[in-house]
Amino acid sequence: MLEGLREAVRKFLGGGSTYKDSVEEFIRDLQRELIRADVNVALVKRLSDAIRQRALEQEPPPGVSRRDWFLKIVYEELVKVFGGEEPPSVEPRKVPWVILLVGVQGSGKTTTAGKLARFYSARGYRVGLVETDTYRPGALEQLRTLAQMSGALFYGEPAGRAEEIASRGVKELESRGAQVIIVDTAGRHGYGDEQALLDEMRRIADAVSPDEVALVVDAAIGQRAFDLARRFHEATPIGTIIVTKLDGTAKGGGVLSAVAATGARVKFVGTGEKVDELEPFDPQGFVSRIMGLGDIRSLLERVREAEAEERAVKVVEEDIEKGRVNMRTIYAQLKSIRRLGPLSRVLEMLPLSTLPVKVGDEQVKLGEEKINKWLHIIESMTYEELDDPDIIDRSRMRRIAVGSGTTVNDVKELLAYYKSVKAVVKRLKRDRSLLRRFGL
Ligand code: GDP
Repeated sequence: MLEGLREAVRKFLGGGSTYKDSVEEFIRDLQRELIRADVNVALVKRLSDAIRQRALEQEPPPGVSRRDWFLKIVYEELVKVFGGEEPPSVEPRKVPWVILLVGVQGSGKTTTAGKLARFYSARGYRVGLVETDTYRPGALEQLRTLAQMSGALFYGEPAGRAEEIASRGVKELESRGAQVIIVDTAGRHGYGDEQALLDEMRRIADAVSPDEVALVVDAAIGQRAFDLARRFHEATPIGTIIVTKLDGTAKGGGVLSAVAATGARVKFVGTGEKVDELEPFDPQGFVSRIMGLGDIRSLLERVREAEAEERAVKVVEEDIEKGRVNMRTIYAQLKSIRRLGPLSRVLEMLPLSTLPVKVGDEQVKLGEEKINKWLHIIESMTYEELDDPDIIDRSRMRRIAVGSGTTVNDVKELLAYYKSVKAVVKRLKRDRSLLRRFGL
């Protein structure tokens, strides 16, 4: 599913055509891939518009190429389409945690119950499985075997009303110390009869008061999952969704995006028939993977760093503007110098730089090595010292030197630098107020 996307990313990064042409070509490739994966056409259109708009309106931070910046936008917009930044938490929030599994016949409920038992057992929980499906011959034995395989407790009855079996099962397993209890149900026949499915869910939910109701959906239904997921999401605030058989279909993009579009969360995905083939679903990881993991991770890292630097430059600008200089200002400034070049450049970006200011040579020629040393020194200071470096006396200097693996002379040198920056900024401010007084 979405295998072509990596290739599109590689092609885009490889250059070739102009930036504008590459963007359009990439968006076309992306649309084709998404539609092939059964993502809703209107959704694909909205996504392309959002990407195009951001690519036109937003500027990359200094030091980041437009192509990298563009892919970051694509990544973020795709993450939104597939469920947002936060992966759903899989940890039980109380004990026992009762999960009721619902879904149509054949969607993979019983298999998933076994997989969940294994998942939670492996995380150290004592798990119990309850089988309430008395229609399908073999369901009882299937789940009993799965329970044995993962060392889970088991409860089931060969005949009877599902809600009564469920209620007895949960009580019994709870008394035997189960911390996660998974209740498997019979389900209904075929998609399209959502009402019957939801009625059944309610009946059993009333009997066992589950902490979570998980709707199991076969990935092969693709974007048709939208209506089902929407009604389910509306019907129960404790609903999560498990998508099965993601391994066996090209329509995975459809089901995942359709669920996300309803506001419901995909919590797990099934990726095979075997009992360990279940994964918590993480939209960010999923999108990184379909875009070509390695590239994206380092790219995002680079862009995020550049954005942080940009914010740091803003802090320096604001502080200087207000004539407020402390060690935090120096820290932000040193970091931006390391990235953008000497202080003279940082000052050039300020409106104040139209004033006749001479920046001392010692400020311009800061080597990378010294900057790193000074950053370490600042990191060893207390909040009090950061806010008011003037309190740093000899004994504080010694402590800071030891803490940062430097010498007292290094600390002194940094403090001298701090004083010179402060003096420059003071002068700037005075000059400015003078100018203002004379109406300039
Ligand atoms: P139920 O009727 O909802 O309980 O469905 P079952 O658990 O009996 O599963 C129906 C079929 O789907 C079985 O053949 C399972 O092996 C298969 N199945 C379930 N989950 C997955 C999955 O994630 N991947 C694949 N390939 N097959 C699965």
